[in-house]
Amino acid sequence: MNEEKNPRKQYAVYIVICLVLLMVFNAIVMPKLTQAAIRDADYSFFLDSLDEGNVKKVQIEDSEITFTVEEEGKEQAYSTVRIDDPDLVTRLHESGDVEFTGKLRERSPLRDFLLGWIIPIVCMFMLWNLLFKGLGKRMGGLGNAMSFGKSNAKIYVKAQTGKTFADVAGQDEAKEALAEIVDFLHNPDKYAEIGADLPKGALLVGPPGTGKTLLAQAVAGEAEVPFFSISGSEFVEMFVGMGAAKVRDLFSQATQKAPCIVFIDEIDTIGKKRDGQVGGNDEREQTLNQLLTEMDGFDGKKGVVILAATNRPESLDPALLRPGRFDRRIPVELPDLAGREAVLKVHAKKVKLAEKIDFNAIARATAGASGAELANIVNEAALRAVRSGRSAVNQSDLEESVEVVIAGYQRKNAVISQKEKEMIAYHEVGHALVAAMQKDSAPVHKITIIPRTSGALGYTMQVDEDEKFLMSKEEALCKIATLTGGRSAEELIFNTCTTGASNDIEKATKLARAMVTRYGMSSKFDMMALETVNNQYLGGDSSLICSPETAAKIDEEVGSIVRNAHTKAVQILTENIGKLHEIARFLLEKETITGEEFMAILRREPQLTA
Ligand code: ADP
Ligand code: ZN
Repeated sequence: MNEEKNPRKQYAVYIVICLVLLMVFNAIVMPKLTQAAIRDADYSFFLDSLDEGNVKKVQIEDSEITFTVEEEGKEQAYSTVRIDDPDLVTRLHESGDVEFTGKLRERSPLRDFLLGWIIPIVCMFMLWNLLFKGLGKRMGGLGNAMSFGKSNAKIYVKAQTGKTFADVAGQDEAKEALAEIVDFLHNPDKYAEIGADLPKGALLVGPPGTGKTLLAQAVAGEAEVPFFSISGSEFVEMFVGMGAAKVRDLFSQATQKAPCIVFIDEIDTIGKKRDGQVGGNDEREQTLNQLLTEMDGFDGKKGVVILAATNRPESLDPALLRPGRFDRRIPVELPDLAGREAVLKVHAKKVKLAEKIDFNAIARATAGASGAELANIVNEAALRAVRSGRSAVNQSDLEESVEVVIAGYQRKNAVISQKEKEMIAYHEVGHALVAAMQKDSAPVHKITIIPRTSGALGYTMQVDEDEKFLMSKEEALCKIATLTGGRSAEELIFNTCTTGASNDIEKATKLARAMVTRYGMSSKFDMMALETVNNQYLGGDSSLICSPETAAKIDEEVGSIVRNAHTKAVQILTENIGKLHEIARFLLEKETITGEEFMAILRREPQLTA
């Protein structure tokens, strides 16, 4: 994005350049010019010349005597160090027609004026300007407090974003909702004629990386109007009043450029609920108030549409959401299977593809990934293709980059002892086998024991055939059992347990807890809500809403769910211990095996060698 050139800034630059030139001139050229004429001389030379009657003019200064001597019909200036000579004046008097003064060297009145007045004043002015501007920028409103008038709000304006709805994959509902705004910007008169007020603002709500910014840019691109973009955090300043001034500035600029789109990212930073705390955040509240006033104040028919994005809609001030302000709320959710495939395809257009790529397979393996992550996957794949010296991206690049995004890069040179490798292999096959032996689990897609930079020493990837929107109680229980499968295998084969299961334990407990507190899947509490989710789009941490006694009972219930799942996993593995050995040995040899290879071993007759 390009920052608008500030004419005042340019002006200041000119002044600085002029001043520097002037100083250089003063410091280097001027002394040369004047000094070229003056030669150094001894005091004795001065006295001799005086005696000889050659001296014409003398200027006596505190530490220097400058005098002119007539030489070959020309006057030559000399300067000498002044020696404490009480007879000097008498001597000068006696030598006849010597003019002597306290000052001789002719001073240019212009230069004196410049040095004495103009330069100091300009310097002071610049210093003052610099100080207050710099401070104002760094610490907020001091400049403004000194009534500098306008804020120095940094506003990004882009004439054309160059993005269209075609660049946004999926998100059809959001696009539909925004299409009306595009139409309005194209043709405001049509709406004005009928007397319809279009929404002044729309709020794009969704998890990070789902394309909210992209959608706003696409609206501007489709409507072919300028796009102002500012982040909520840019309004937050240390000094009260600065943020509000920025809001005013933003709106006055936007009105001048109407029709246009104003995009405020992370609006929650300024739009948080005003809680009326004593000594609360005055600055933020003032900024918010100013925003509310501006939104009420500007003429909606002019064609300024405000789009804002947030991923914490629940924390927004209700005043922002009332009709006439951000009355449209457009959910921008994580893409579903079709959406993910579409995002992959949009981004794959930018890279060279080698062969027919099965985007559906990649989309299935990336449940829960955001648009930004998918874009990253395609880019990682392209980087991998370059690294391996190929000129186009193939399926394996994409598959590997899915794992890079999920689990980090392969740590090829990690040294892992044979004993540990065995443990990891059995752990992973434990997961896979427990998953495969329960009918409600997703099929195993891949098992690997190549360590990753995320710290994972191996993992089992399960990929559902179709997109799932619901999870049944049976599926949840199966999932917990699968998560405990790794540890169960360690116990069964090595009769010990390792730290390798910590992540499994965390996930299993989290799911079991949610079953009890949020999904009403335990017989003990039935459909009682025991927890609320705080930031549904940001990880979704939750807080208990029950008495401490109930909390203790919840813990008990969660514990028993996990324990039962663990017992079940151990039982499954005990029943299939032959297959566990067989597959683990195969995995140790291959390091990575596919779901098909896994199923083939599982289905074939038990081998006698096992
Ligand atoms: P947000 O503002 O929701 O956090 P962005 O709009 O900044 O997310 O998205 C980041 C990047 O992710 C975009 O620049 C784009 O490359 C990619 N992206 C996200 N969603 C989509 C989508 N639906 N279609 C295409 N690209 C997407
Ligand atoms: Zn595990």
